[in-house]
Amino acid sequence: MSPDTSGMSPECALAHRPGYKGLHRECRQTEDVSLPHGGGILLVRRCTCAHHVSKVEALDLITPESAAQA
Ligand SMILES: [Zn+2]
Ligand SMILES: [Zn+2]
Repeated sequence: MSPDTSGMSPECALAHRPGYKGLHRECRQTEDVSLPHGGGILLVRRCTCAHHVSKVEALDLITPESAAQA
């Protein structure tokens, strides 16, 4: 079982090796970074590591509307 780490940050790619699990937390590529005035050119692509996906879904549950109602 070897996941495709080509779209992942160096930290997450390494984190898939035995003994390096903790490096998932070191990953900073949790969102796309585009050039400020680059017309949508991406500097850094979001890390494709699966452990970020569940995190994004959790954040999506907290919408501005639901926060205002609370
Ligand atoms: Zn990552
Ligand atoms: Zn990761």
